[in-house]
Amino acid sequence: MTKLYIVIPCYNEEAVLLETASRLREKLRTLMSEKIITVDSKIILVDDGSNDGTWELISKIHYSDSMFSGCKLTRNQGHQNALLAGLDCARGKCDAVISMDADLQDDIEVIDKFVKKYEEGNEVVYGVRSSRKKDSFFKCKTAKIFYKLMSLMGAEVVSNHADYRLLGSRALEGLFKFNEVNLFLRGIVPLVGYKSDKVYYERKERYAGKSKYPLKRMISFALDGITSFSIKPIKMITSLGVIFVLVSGIMLLYSLISYFTGHSVSGWASLITSIWLLGGLQLLAIGIIGEYIGKVFLETKKRPRYIIEEFLEETSFKKES
Ligand code: UDP
Ligand code: MG
Repeated sequence: MTKLYIVIPCYNEEAVLLETASRLREKLRTLMSEKIITVDSKIILVDDGSNDGTWELISKIHYSDSMFSGCKLTRNQGHQNALLAGLDCARGKCDAVISMDADLQDDIEVIDKFVKKYEEGNEVVYGVRSSRKKDSFFKCKTAKIFYKLMSLMGAEVVSNHADYRLLGSRALEGLFKFNEVNLFLRGIVPLVGYKSDKVYYERKERYAGKSKYPLKRMISFALDGITSFSIKPIKMITSLGVIFVLVSGIMLLYSLISYFTGHSVSGWASLITSIWLLGGLQLLAIGIIGEYIGKVFLETKKRPRYIIEEFLEETSFKKES
């Protein structure tokens, strides 16, 4: 039997939280009665600095059922950090932990499969979306581009896997050895190593509420993912520089020939386009380098990734009642 913890980051999720909690409660009760997981298995709901009634709801859920713990962050830290805070709370208390979204998009019926794979000796089990029928056309396309780009840039990510995954206690400890502030869990988990497997599931529609990832956030998430995992973009700049030096050599030759053959006045158009092109490329290159310097800046500061304001656990439940 596995002592299982489930970690759910919640940001302004009051519309779905009660439904999620009741479905999960039912699911875990079934698993407990089937003796798949132990009776002291738990669900940790992490409030990522919501500005609606999410935390009130979480405390209500916790006080009515000790299966639920609540963890409140001092402010909104973003999905990845909220997840990490929850994993931190689960650390050392369980055999395995599953992370999932609050909106019921991740099919909770496959939890059995996760646990089974874990018991077969996999420290990491990835939930992979078998289809994205319920996602919008736009989201499907952008996600596809994102995974392609990530693998092109040399980051090892599991395609079509988001943050629905199981980590065994050893993998969890391994994860916390990575101290980077720019956190991109999807890229770090494969680096932790250990034997892993996949579980396929059908991605559902968001049960209620709105997606917290509008286009702007999605782009910055993707950029973060790439620049915190790979230095290929910087290397590409160097190669581009080399190519341009070569091209300029050819251009020099070309202009010398034009001069000696008497065609030197023409060519304004090609000149002006190359000025724009080179100017643009230089700005782009500086921008990319800037991104990395920004990352280095943040890493050297070693700011905390999250601060937990309150943690409601069963012990506090006993004290209160
Ligand atoms: N989330 C969070 N902090 C944030 C944004 C999102 O904890 O700043 C949580 C959110 O509550 C949800 C999960 O991250 O449980 C995934 O977000 P969402 O479902 O909006 O993303 P999508 O499925 O649309 O990509
Ligand atoms: Mg979602």
